[in-house]
Amino acid sequence: MCDVPTIERLLEKYESLWDAEWCDVVRIVREDETVEDYRAVGELALQRFHERHAPFDDSVTVGTEVRVETDLDDTGEHPLMGYVDRLVKVEDGRWEIHDYKTSKRLPTQRDVDRDRQLALYQIAVTEMYPDAREVELVWHYLRHDQEVRSQRTAEELEGLRQEVLADIARIEEATEFPAATSALCSWCDFRALCPAWAHEACVEELEPEELRGEPDVRLVDRYMDVGARAKELEAEKELLRKELIRRMEETERTALAGTTHRIRLSERRALRIPPRDDPEREELERALMDAGLWGRTSVLDRRGLERILEDEAVPTSVRETIGRYISIEKNACLYPSRRQEG
Ligand code: SF4
Repeated sequence: MCDVPTIERLLEKYESLWDAEWCDVVRIVREDETVEDYRAVGELALQRFHERHAPFDDSVTVGTEVRVETDLDDTGEHPLMGYVDRLVKVEDGRWEIHDYKTSKRLPTQRDVDRDRQLALYQIAVTEMYPDAREVELVWHYLRHDQEVRSQRTAEELEGLRQEVLADIARIEEATEFPAATSALCSWCDFRALCPAWAHEACVEELEPEELRGEPDVRLVDRYMDVGARAKELEAEKELLRKELIRRMEETERTALAGTTHRIRLSERRALRIPPRDDPEREELERALMDAGLWGRTSVLDRRGLERILEDEAVPTSVRETIGRYISIEKNACLYPSRRQEG
């Protein structure tokens, strides 16, 4: 039985390790947080974890940072390797794979039941340790002092293995690799090479005068300027439209003349359909289905189809069948957003 450190000793160790390992090149990406905030989060997480689990005698730790490996198929071409934060034996035949998270977001049960990382570790652990006949996956969300658990059946693990092999095949066959921007871009070391950020990285160091003169910067600025004026004009046009309608109603005329054009008022009946999140929408759809009229009115929803194609819960064969009828076109759209201050 090893010596279980007291919380005081643990925090002392934490402080001394922090001071020894800290160096100023560590960058805090979040603007609203400081180094001290992170340090305090660590302290609190340790205190709570110690309080909840001391004296840590409910299981045996097989190892921490345990390297686990497996082959995803018999070809030997798809080895998988990972490190289990803590591998635990609860009793003969019953093991646990523990993972420690500092994330601010606490996942739902559905999220962890669909998590692939620990489930893949489970495939490796059950092969490497025959005693691990029953395995539970355990996440510790330290900021929340919350433990989340999930279990997988042998069939689910086999399904996952096949899904990952299919993903590998898709990646190996891919010939296009578009930049997939996300919140993680802030931490990415390849921004200067990435098509989504290279220009920004390129102009970052320019003095304001040089920046304003750079051709592509000017192009973006002009586009934004014209966009802003177009917005103002659209607002003005809408006011004029309303004023024209008001005048025609007031004068009981259905057209007014200008120096070069005439404007005619045409009133048409337009259907207002309840929006998607309105319960009346579902009732309307059900009424149409019950009357056998759904096929005459329903439309295929592009975003809905995209979601189906991306949803891993939909069987691959179904997604493949749907995919046969759909082609992907390139649509050039521009989405302006504010640049972060340097
Ligand atoms: S910056 Fe990095 S993470 Fe973001 S899209 Fe480019 S390569 Fe991907």
